Amino acid sequence: MDYIISNIRLLAGEDLELVRNKAVWVKDGIIHEVISDSEIPEGALVHDGRGHLLIPGLIDLHIHMMWDGSADPVATLELEGYEQMLIRAVANCRHYLEHGITTVRDIGSVDDIALHVAKSIRRGLVPGPDVIASGKTLTMTGGHDPFWARFVDGKDEALKGVREQIYKGAQVIKVSATGGAYGRDEGEQVGHSELNPEELQTIANEAHRFGLKVASHAIGRDGIRNSLLAGIDTIEHGHYLDDELVALMKERGAAWIPTLYVYQQLASMKEIPEYAKEKAREITEIHAAAFKKYFNSGVLVGAGSDAGSPGTSHHALKDELYAMHELMPDTKAVLKTATVNAGKILDMNVGRIEKGYKADLILLAGNPIDDLSHLDKVNQVFKDGEIVVNHGLSNIKVEAI
Ligand SMILES: [Zn+2]
Repeated sequence: MDYIISNIRLLAGEDLELVRNKAVWVKDGIIHEVISDSEIPEGALVHDGRGHLLIPGLIDLHIHMMWDGSADPVATLELEGYEQMLIRAVANCRHYLEHGITTVRDIGSVDDIALHVAKSIRRGLVPGPDVIASGKTLTMTGGHDPFWARFVDGKDEALKGVREQIYKGAQVIKVSATGGAYGRDEGEQVGHSELNPEELQTIANEAHRFGLKVASHAIGRDGIRNSLLAGIDTIEHGHYLDDELVALMKERGAAWIPTLYVYQQLASMKEIPEYAKEKAREITEIHAAAFKKYFNSGVLVGAGSDAGSPGTSHHALKDELYAMHELMPDTKAVLKTATVNAGKILDMNVGRIEKGYKADLILLAGNPIDDLSHLDKVNQVFKDGEIVVNHGLSNIKVEAI
């Protein structure tokens, strides 16, 4: 596979800089070179982008592929059963590609379903984005999200838990450092810390020893602090971040995946179970204030939708970006959270158009930096250089880019 995408505009490099008269040379699934139109070698195979905008494939850092995004996904599971859930996970992966999402991180799935789906995608059995999956979440007994937890108590069990997940093929480790909103009706509070510092430290050390990063569900202050001191790599949600914690994040190089949209949905949707709605309502304003205050604080912020969760579809990455944009008018900075920043957080060669990066790309009929809603105008999606979604480049009118 060796061809050149030309007749395009593109958002190039780390700055997502709009450039014209450039072409992208794709070879063996990788961006071989970004060249000037005038440098296209004679006889090269050329893919005509028809004036569209080429941007990096989008990255969602927090999903649950096996959930259905209804008001109560756990109820769906109980009603429909295990086999439907597995098939749904596979179908949802196709859905990500349709929306230009070419990399996802699945951090929590019943019986490690996401590990198996991730493997099937890698083997080419089913279509889907690159999936970096944790499988089960490491949680204290009775802790947050018990439905997909691997309960661990004490240092020895924490060590065994993390080793088990690595053995089963996890590429990231997920822990619950605090309670949550939707996890459980009784006995769980967002402010309570769960896994203790020693357990978190054991998990982080062992994961890092094998080159895996650790993502921590952390809403309340103590749990965020415990996670950071243990050397955890990403704080998921992070509602109660404050100056001291943000300073600690910077010192430790931890990143933040705020997941604003899902909590807005939990707090506002009519059909959400009442206990979850109440808990979410208490924290959405705190969340928004933290986001406004710390988005530009120097902490790396990545986009995660919590897709599959209550009221959160499998293309809710865009809703997450819109939610960020409500609080942060800089569209380019917002778009970076789902491209450049997310690639950095994963420490993978994804999320930007630059030599050596994966040819995971989308052709859009408008520029999302002018208006984020142009992300809905996905016309073609390239995964490892192959066109995996094709709506026909002539079908959508191209906005002046
Ligand atoms: Zn989640």
